[in-house]
Amino acid sequence: MKMINVILPLALPGTLTYSVPDTLCRAVTIGVRVLVPLGRSKTYVALVVGECREEPGFKLRDITAVLDSSPVATRLQLRLWEWVADYYMSSPGDVYVAAMPSGLKGEDNYRPKTERCVALAEALGSEASLHAALNILTASRARQQKAMFECFLRLSRWDTAFDDSLPSAVTGVTVEELTNESHCPTTILNALVRRGFLRIYEREVGRLNSRQPPHPENLKTLSEAQQRAHDDVVRSFAGKDVVLLHGVTSSGKTEIYMHLIARTLSEGKQVLYLLPEIALTVQMTRRLQRVFGSRLGIYHSKYSDAERVEIWQKQLSDEPYDVILGARSAVFLPFRNLGLVIVDEEHETSFKQQEPAPRYHARSVAIMLAHMCGAKVLLGTATPSAETYYNARSGKYGLVSLTTRHEGLELPEIEVVDIKDLHRRRMMNGPFSPRLLEAMRDALCDGHQVILFQNRRGFAPMIECQDCGWVPKCRNCDVSLTLHKTMNYLSCHYCGGAYTVPVACPACGSRALRSYGYGTENIEDRVREMFPESRVARMDLDTTRTRNAYDRIISDFSSGRTNVLVGTQMISKGLDFDNVSVVGILNADTMLNYPDFRAYEHAFMMMAQVSGRAGRKRKRGLVVLQTKNPGLPVIGQVAHNDYEKFYSELLGERRAFCYPPYFRLIYVFLRHGKEPVVEGAASEFAASLRRVFASRVLGPDKPSVAKVNLKHIRKIVIKLENGIDLAAVRAELRAVYEHITKNIYKTVEVFFDVDPL
Ligand SMILES: [Zn+2]
Ligand SMILES: [Zn+2]
Repeated sequence: MKMINVILPLALPGTLTYSVPDTLCRAVTIGVRVLVPLGRSKTYVALVVGECREEPGFKLRDITAVLDSSPVATRLQLRLWEWVADYYMSSPGDVYVAAMPSGLKGEDNYRPKTERCVALAEALGSEASLHAALNILTASRARQQKAMFECFLRLSRWDTAFDDSLPSAVTGVTVEELTNESHCPTTILNALVRRGFLRIYEREVGRLNSRQPPHPENLKTLSEAQQRAHDDVVRSFAGKDVVLLHGVTSSGKTEIYMHLIARTLSEGKQVLYLLPEIALTVQMTRRLQRVFGSRLGIYHSKYSDAERVEIWQKQLSDEPYDVILGARSAVFLPFRNLGLVIVDEEHETSFKQQEPAPRYHARSVAIMLAHMCGAKVLLGTATPSAETYYNARSGKYGLVSLTTRHEGLELPEIEVVDIKDLHRRRMMNGPFSPRLLEAMRDALCDGHQVILFQNRRGFAPMIECQDCGWVPKCRNCDVSLTLHKTMNYLSCHYCGGAYTVPVACPACGSRALRSYGYGTENIEDRVREMFPESRVARMDLDTTRTRNAYDRIISDFSSGRTNVLVGTQMISKGLDFDNVSVVGILNADTMLNYPDFRAYEHAFMMMAQVSGRAGRKRKRGLVVLQTKNPGLPVIGQVAHNDYEKFYSELLGERRAFCYPPYFRLIYVFLRHGKEPVVEGAASEFAASLRRVFASRVLGPDKPSVAKVNLKHIRKIVIKLENGIDLAAVRAELRAVYEHITKNIYKTVEVFFDVDPL
């Protein structure tokens, strides 16, 4: 009898074994999907991962059908997933769920999807008729209809279609985008359609790629410095599997990547190009498509499932894409003949998946994938992570530095402004110092652009009753709520809960509720007030919920349609603009005060990266860095772009306090609705761990946010010296886990975070 091991899309600890009826035997191979019964009445689509040779002590159930005539996952992929499940201590089912599009897991029927879009009614396609329509809407006092119509004109760019001075091309708008952006329900949209202002049509999503042929002649010639770096990388690959390209911001790393991609393709091999953020794929897609045309495929989570299934199947076919550009989940795609993996902006924390499991780091998985394929890995960044820099310095990775910016661009001048002192002298204008306002005014007068960076979204991080000190908190989490003014609600940034804004304090009845602090929304408002002529855009989680939103914000800013961009860390990620003369960092302290051993590293990277957006051809950019702690060494190191100094100090501290890269960390998190239960489980867990790992175990402690979604959380930290047998460590951890969750603590949710960020 043939027996097989399968993975199900469920968080089960291992694989399950089924028997194969004789009639299906020939159709079953590793990597095909089969239907299996589970429990009394459920059927699942499962993936065959291996054959089972040992007869178990109980009767196996039969699989009921084979779904594929050829494998949908390669053996190499299965090996990689197994490694991910083992190393990151998650179940094979979790990895399977993260890796495969749901269309292939049988959760959804795969069919080309269409989306509903909105267009201007044909009769309105002239400037005069548009004005007439707006007049009618104003006169009829249909406030929401007017708001939605205006929102449509803005999104579709009809509002400037007749304006010669602004670059404009009318673009498609989806129903989802319009209702989200205008904050109006679809009934309003239906009213506008009935009145003959707008029309709705269906558009097929996806169709992956234009059929453009590749144009290798579009590859730009490298500058002398770039060519040198390129050659050094190639030379370095001869001896090392992983090479770090440490190039200052705007040094033209992308051009070097493109030459390396072309080189790899000419050897008949494939390339995987990973970016940390979907936002960046928009800019990069255009650049790569100009050269590689339809040899390029794009893969990330904002794509519909149907599109992802299509790419997956194409990668399994005889004519796969030669270059895949994608965010972290692209490491799970099938590759036939991978030659090079590029991990751009390798320092970015968004390469790490935090929730749900598997909590993997795409950089580490990419290195393992390349290792299994015999491919090379290039890590690129202006601000390497401590781990990567350490590996490069110690000789484990190759290291190539690129210190000149391209086209003679100078690094920006960074001016530190002491806002503590200005506050005391009452010279601050809200979140703005006089120096920043002056710089903004000059830039806008000269027709240049401004970027303002504030790592907090919403209007105000906190509101408080001035009479009794009451602060609104989330009912489900241990955090205060953020005020979002445009839509007038309070929101919890941990569970997403939304609350109405109270008119009076529920504790004392006072109406003196005041908001504190400045979020991006507030800064956007203030820029509009102070610079009425400016055209402001905001880029944060709230404005980029739809697939086209990033694209629009970025292309509006690069084309000059907007001239002030306010944003969170999203704007620090490698976007290239060429008319930005001023960058304002509104408050460095919120980043530095974050309670985590990586706070300074992350703050340094964010500030260095966002500063790198300043500078134009032949004109040095200016960065105004506002802080209450101008004396901190890290501020000076950002100001002088002194990466070496920053890292030698950082590594010294890490070594002294037993942190990565000198030690490895594993966090154990425990969650439960009842605090005494989680408390008890956590102490027992830690006690059991101490018996094995002694003083390597710290805690349990309450994390800085100790309750999320009605669940209390405890955290145990395990610090492991380099060179320790990690497989043995994981086995011990699993044993303790089994032991603790066996009896009274069965309902406690326990998970591991390996190499946490
Ligand atoms: Zn009160
Ligand atoms: Zn909450």
